[in-house]
Formats: sequence, C-alpha cells, structure tokens
Amino acid sequence: MNSTKLENTEIRWHPTTPTHFRCEPDCVCCCARPFFFTSEKAKLPPNVKEKLTYKYRRRLPEEAISLSQKNAGHPRRMIVPKPLIPYKGRTCGFFNPESPCHCTVHSYRPLRCKLFPFLPLLVKNKIVVFAEPFLTLFRTEDEPDWFRCFGLGKGKNVQASINEMSRKFLMKLAEEYPILFRDYCVDDTDQLIDWKEIEKFRKPKYNSWKEAKPVVYQKIEKKLRGYCGESHPR
Ligand code: SF4
Ligand code: SF4
Repeated sequence: MNSTKLENTEIRWHPTTPTHFRCEPDCVCCCARPFFFTSEKAKLPPNVKEKLTYKYRRRLPEEAISLSQKNAGHPRRMIVPKPLIPYKGRTCGFFNPESPCHCTVHSYRPLRCKLFPFLPLLVKNKIVVFAEPFLTLFRTEDEPDWFRCFGLGKGKNVQASINEMSRKFLMKLAEEYPILFRDYCVDDTDQLIDWKEIEKFRKPKYNSWKEAKPVVYQKIEKKLRGYCGESHPR
C-alpha cells in the first residue's frame, strides 16, 4: 500500500488497546527505540542534528531493496539518535532523567516518540492502533527490564490525536522507510499480542509510577547509574 491510499484508510483500535493515556510524571520507562524521518531531521537545529547517526537494517533480498525511497539515500538506512552510552545499550542519547519529560529535545522529538505508547500497524489494509508494550513486535532480548508504561489507561481519551498521528506516521513510513514499513504490515495480530503484559496491566502490582518507583529503582539503579552517571535521582 502506498502513502496516498493510507490517506483514506479506515482506523480501528485493537480491543486490547486502552483509549486513555497520561504520561506519568517522573517515569523513566521508555526512550529505548526512537528513529527520525528524513523530513523530521531536515527541520532540526544543528545542535540536535549532530547527535544523530545512522542505523542499517538487516539485508533483504534484492527485490526488497529495489523499492523506491524518496528523500533518502539508502533503502536500509535509518536516522537514529546516538546511544546514550557509546556502543552500549539502546537508550536514546537524548534521554536524561533530570530534564523535563526526560527528553532533552522534547519539542523536537520524532513522531515515533510522540506516538508512544501507541503503535499503529496496517492489518489487512486497515490501520489498527495497538499499545506497544502489549506487543512482542520490535521487542528485543536487551529490552530494559523496567520497560512498562504506567500512563496507559490513565488521563483523557486520546483516540482522536493518536488516530491523526498514526495515519501521518504510517504515510511517512511508507514514503521514507518502505522497507521498515513492511514490518508494520501484518496479517495475523494474535501472535503479536503479549497476554502476560495485558494481564499485568489489568491486575497491576503497582497503580502508578509513583508507587512502582521505589521498587523498580532498586532493581534498575545500577543500570541507570551506568546510563546516566552518578547524578540520577533516587
Ligand atoms: S527523542 Fe526524547 S522522547 Fe524520544 S526516545 Fe529520545 S529521549 Fe525519549
Ligand atoms: S513509559 Fe509511558 S508513562 Fe512512562 S515516560 Fe514513557 S510514555 Fe510516559
């Protein structure tokens, strides 16, 4: 499917996806897997641009890399922030637990981050919105063990704004990262759902990040210290 068709594609919410969201103050649970579109990078100031680098996606068969890719020079190349710790982990280089919203480039953050914790997929030619922490898709073995979203299900209904962002995100993906876009097109979503995470959401051990923080911080303190230096808040 191309980006023009996506303009009129129906949007649904998967039944497991909470419709309400409010980012929890002080939470440090995401910020591990961002990327920027070429069109987003073009609008960034030089001091932000210089903290970006490239990541190359796995090699695909010849026919896959012959897809046209507007605005980008290499079909497998993605624009990503440099990691916080060079050559170690996937925590975003713009992450800082002491800055507002823990993002040192909050007003410039990419659509990928603005959408989190929601993730739109193209399922049988319909856009379906999921809660990313409830999916196994894109999760890797080195996922931080504090990866959760305590803001899901809280706050106000965000369907309208997430729908608008989801469409825009998939259109940009189809145009600028056609190879990555294929990963967002799925036929069977059942295998992607992580029912254990949904169960944790439905019967939470902690009701908020405020409650979870003292316990989670004990577990992750060493890692955070490694990522952020000695000055992270306790
Ligand atoms: S750009 Fe900001 S919001 Fe996005 S992952 Fe990095 S620190 Fe987090
Ligand atoms: S995990 Fe959720 S609540 Fe925590 S900072 Fe990220 S979006 Fe906000």
